[in-house]
Amino acid sequence: MFPQDSLRNWKSGKGLWAKVDDAQWSDWRWQLQNRLSRKTDFEKLLQLTDSEVAGFEASVDKLSVSVTPHFFNLIDRSDPNCPIRRQVVPQGAESIVSTEEMADPVGEEKTMPVPGIVHRYPDRVLFLVTDRCASYCRYCTRSRMVSNAQGYGFSPSIDVGLDYIKKNKSIRDVLLSGGDPLLLSDEKIGRILSSLSKIEHVEFVRIGTRVPVFLPQRVNDSLLDSLSQHPNLWISIHVNHPGECSLELRDACLKLTKQGIPIGNQSVLLRGINDNIGCMQQLIHRLLMMKVRPYYLYQCDLVEGSSHLRSSVQKGLDIIKGLRGKTTGYAIPQFVIDAPKGGGKVPLNPDFVHEWNDSEIILKNFEGELFSYPNNTNLLVVSELEHKLDTV
Ligand SMILES: *Cc1c(COP(=O)(O)O)cnc(C)c1O
Repeated sequence: MFPQDSLRNWKSGKGLWAKVDDAQWSDWRWQLQNRLSRKTDFEKLLQLTDSEVAGFEASVDKLSVSVTPHFFNLIDRSDPNCPIRRQVVPQGAESIVSTEEMADPVGEEKTMPVPGIVHRYPDRVLFLVTDRCASYCRYCTRSRMVSNAQGYGFSPSIDVGLDYIKKNKSIRDVLLSGGDPLLLSDEKIGRILSSLSKIEHVEFVRIGTRVPVFLPQRVNDSLLDSLSQHPNLWISIHVNHPGECSLELRDACLKLTKQGIPIGNQSVLLRGINDNIGCMQQLIHRLLMMKVRPYYLYQCDLVEGSSHLRSSVQKGLDIIKGLRGKTTGYAIPQFVIDAPKGGGKVPLNPDFVHEWNDSEIILKNFEGELFSYPNNTNLLVVSELEHKLDTV
């Protein structure tokens, strides 16, 4: 049994920025303008480790560093291994590129028919609308383009992307991502969503965003107003650790669901951050408490300079196995590997089938007990019925 949670344990408030007035603190543009980005910004508030000092060097032509004041407050400053800190403060190991790592680990570039559109699956596309984020995750799968530290020069035309979607009638699902789409202005987001809603074959639109986590202030009335106009809109957020579940994030999620927007969560399995069952169960319980459905748990992509954050596939499977039967079914995400070189997402599941033969399937439940279920039940029933009819 896992201990129960209480909202009293969730972080919230201005923390280190107690002197800033409320109006500024809750203004998302103030949060962006006051992000910590340079080594000197961090040194004032954290005792940087040698590895982190080297990390700032390594980040220069790899992926920008930026952390909003809201998210910085969630860091435990006394712990150099704080799981929140390790997601956003660079380490020297970022400059180590192992032989299996790639700049484009899931092969997006080769399935880009026009700049900004990744068309990997027949019925749905990934539509990259910006290369900017509120804060930068050190294991970013799109490090090659996000923040432009590697000089990718991302500047696709939104109209060209929309035109591609309009012309391809097989596309029923559009996933807006980047970068983070919710960093665009209300007007720009509204314009993209309205254009999509005018395309008859587009049934379903998602926004992939970490803004509610990094910058919950962005989820203000005018954004909510604009999003609420679109009945086919879902949102995927990205939370990895229960410590990211602030009361402000919860508030933002409850406001979004109140507008009728369902929310899913995508986590990345990260070494020493969330790759243990206790941490994962606390995270997924907190997600349910804010009406967020855990959707995917990703094995960390083979992006260059991320091996220090990568956990093992076996750990991911063990976590899923350990959760099954022990908690709410809704709480359990699907563990997936986004296959290298463009294979797409492949689900991995722990095995609960002990044996499968011609007459029965022997199931192993969450407590390790064995149960038999007849194989080919329908066939048995039909042939028995026929036999009975023959003998009447
Ligand atoms: C993840 C992804 C999608 C969406 O996949 P779902 O399994 O529907 O969530 C679509 N296109 C690309 C290229 C993706 O990487």
